[in-house]
Amino acid sequence: MKGENILIPSMHAVVVPFPAQGHVNALMHFAELLRARGFYITFVNTEWTEKRILDSSKHFSERSNFRLLSFADGLPPEHGRTAQLGELVAMLAKRGPVLEEVLRSSNGNGVPPVTCILTDCIMSCTASVAANMGVPRVVFWPLCAAASIAQKYADLLLSQGHIPIKVSQTKRPEQMISGLPGNIPDLWPSDLISFYREQCESDAIFKALLYEAQQSNEADYVLINTFEELEGRDAAAALSANGCPSLAIGPVFLPKVLQGEETRLGSMWDEDESCLEWLDKQRPGSVLYVSFGSVAVKSQQQLEELALGLEGSGQPFLWVLRSDIAEGHTPVLPEGFEKRTSDRAFIVNWTPQLKVLAHASVGGFLTHNGWNSTLESISMGVPLLGWPYFGDQFLTCRFAKDIWKVGLDFKDVDVDDNRLVTREEVESAVRDLMQNEQLRKRALELKEAAIKAVMPGGSSFTNISTFIRDMLEKAK
Ligand code: UDP
Repeated sequence: MKGENILIPSMHAVVVPFPAQGHVNALMHFAELLRARGFYITFVNTEWTEKRILDSSKHFSERSNFRLLSFADGLPPEHGRTAQLGELVAMLAKRGPVLEEVLRSSNGNGVPPVTCILTDCIMSCTASVAANMGVPRVVFWPLCAAASIAQKYADLLLSQGHIPIKVSQTKRPEQMISGLPGNIPDLWPSDLISFYREQCESDAIFKALLYEAQQSNEADYVLINTFEELEGRDAAAALSANGCPSLAIGPVFLPKVLQGEETRLGSMWDEDESCLEWLDKQRPGSVLYVSFGSVAVKSQQQLEELALGLEGSGQPFLWVLRSDIAEGHTPVLPEGFEKRTSDRAFIVNWTPQLKVLAHASVGGFLTHNGWNSTLESISMGVPLLGWPYFGDQFLTCRFAKDIWKVGLDFKDVDVDDNRLVTREEVESAVRDLMQNEQLRKRALELKEAAIKAVMPGGSSFTNISTFIRDMLEKAK
């Protein structure tokens, strides 16, 4: 807090993320950028999320012009939340009145009047709150622009018969979906948001996400966590709701990384910093980082196969093995694995990922292609090996490989979720990734472009300035 401006600012953003780790991280970082540029921030989590953040981040809310609030998500304590995503999204859609009551009852006490509600693209409950409070609703897309377009235009894709998605093993050119707004590259059916696949048609998430896609049009301003040099200005503009401004403002975490400031903002897990000391002892560019984010799970058999593949690759690796990754259970590693690999392996429950990806020893990332992880990797110049699990991850994986040319993948994982990826495949893909100079070169080019975008004068920096200016105008 030293040196911070502690005057109460005149602008006030109420920030409401979707309660999942990647979504909270992205909005927390963007909120920090706004705070640095003169906003007061009210960050509103669900009670469930807030408890997890406070339990793992002891000094969380000690900053000026910032407060945390929370509201009940309406689900019982034993509910799986992100493990039962459809029910969570559908329940949150009804929580507008509860959220509004929390905001109204916490006004006053020197807190400036609310300027805008800045909220995740799947938090439709904030639409009525913004309307009742008479403030603009700013919709934030924490996905890449192409995946955001695939979600926003789900209704259109439904009317054209592309949803429910039929994914076939053989890809024929006539199956490609062309002409989507934003001049985005043509999509394969398997690129679309996986919750719209025909086998999910009766799942709660299918209906809940379609509803959220329609509600995303209830916006006065749209922001996307990507950068124009990666996805183009047209793709960002295509997310506009009824002609409102729609701007790329990412990567939102990058300014803090570049300034060497604390990047641990909204973690729901205890980060194990000891992996950084281990990384210090490794050769530059030699370590494979392995993490599948906060939600993805794998079968016990698949984890064993992966472990043996990592061992066989001969590469040093840092592996995030979440305690619930084995389909909700504690994973069991192959017999003798930890002893056999102890000189070149480090296994943790959760890392400070931004610091890991920024570390000079890390040369590749085996990832589930969550958008935050992918963007973090791209921005740090680390090539990716994609192993998507659900949602937008299939599109992001394919774009990283075919469009941005910064990644590899495992053949056909996207069209057959239950296929076992063998140890031999892991071994050879890890070697391909770590030895591929072309990918490394491309990753460094994208890193430079991302840094340029967030620096003064860069595309994202300028777009954030435009957004702030427009909010000031509206607040007058
Ligand atoms: N993350 C982290 N430590 C870990 C694993 C992940 O800090 O050990 C962070 C990561 O930096 C990213 C977020 O958790 O910001 C995961 O978001 P992403 O969109 O990649 O995946 P999700 O968890 O939503 O599937």
